[in-house]
Amino acid sequence: MRVLRLARFLSGSRLGRAATLGILAALTVSAAVAAASLHATALQEARPPGADYDGDAFTFHKVREGVYLAVPTGNLTAVGNASVVINDDDVLIVDSHTSPAGAWALLHELQRITAKPVRYVVNTHFHVDHVHGNQVYPKDVQIISHEFTREMIATGRSWSGHAYDQVVGSVPSQISKLERQLEATTDPGDRTDLLRQLRIRKNFLAATKAVVPTPPNVTLRDRMTLYRGRREIQLLFLGRGHTAGDVVVYLPKERVLMTGDLLLKTVPYMHDCYPLDWIATLERLKQLDFDVILGGHWEPLLERERIDHLQAYLRDLWSQASQMHNEGVAAEEAARRIDLRSHAAHYPNIKGLGVGLVPVQRIYELLDQQK
Ligand SMILES: [Zn+2]
Repeated sequence: MRVLRLARFLSGSRLGRAATLGILAALTVSAAVAAASLHATALQEARPPGADYDGDAFTFHKVREGVYLAVPTGNLTAVGNASVVINDDDVLIVDSHTSPAGAWALLHELQRITAKPVRYVVNTHFHVDHVHGNQVYPKDVQIISHEFTREMIATGRSWSGHAYDQVVGSVPSQISKLERQLEATTDPGDRTDLLRQLRIRKNFLAATKAVVPTPPNVTLRDRMTLYRGRREIQLLFLGRGHTAGDVVVYLPKERVLMTGDLLLKTVPYMHDCYPLDWIATLERLKQLDFDVILGGHWEPLLERERIDHLQAYLRDLWSQASQMHNEGVAAEEAARRIDLRSHAAHYPNIKGLGVGLVPVQRIYELLDQQK
């Protein structure tokens, strides 16, 4: 049975077609032992570069019947979460991680909770950690995003730029640093830990080299609703925010909202954002009736007030940065002087005066464009 499930998951995918044909042909040999070893063989054959890891790659947080948030454990560098919606006959996945290895590991581990085939994948936005596993999905899977997100992936913007450099470009230097630390360490426990981290980083580098950016094959401009058996799944674009094309996924009956990076436990990455639009978009989020938030990173959230906290942070940051911009203060100096400590109760990573340079540069860039 497990072999058939895997075959269904992988049938038609570039990685899986050969393996699947092999499995189906070999199923005429009906010994259970043979099937079990075939299963292992098929997984190995389909396994993309960098998909070697110990233990589990994901923890599945069950939030409703058939609704899960898959959060990376760190054994494999997936970077982003995936939300999983299991319908009567099929499965919808939200976001596809940073590499085919990440997406493959999710499909592999999904077998623990369902045998149904994945028919839909949503890319919440174009950043590398949400879209670079798309290639693993068979061609008949509908990969859905906002039209802006598709345009960005199709023109190489998930594959370059600041977000890509942050997540992937820094990996070789992280590896060199770990290697230097390993050389300087004699403690057996520390060495074991460093070797493990090195293995994970090297796997990640191999995984990212296997990426073939794969744009979505279905786009939306404002909204789309999928009716899958008893499940109603709304895909909504509520305005620009963290990017110009963030889609949220809303399950009205289950009162669950999947926010991508539009709303997280931490302040989201801001390089491609529109802070003023973002505040308004978050206001529209409040019109939705939900009590569980599944974000693109971290564990599920239960507090709707998270929306207010992010709005307040963005308002304050915008106001201070735009005032300094008016006064002709350089972005670097503004980043040192901006004071967001009043938000530290909601964002514990705020430890003192100042803010990252990226948000200030972004606000300066938007203000310069208005001139
Ligand atoms: Zn992200």
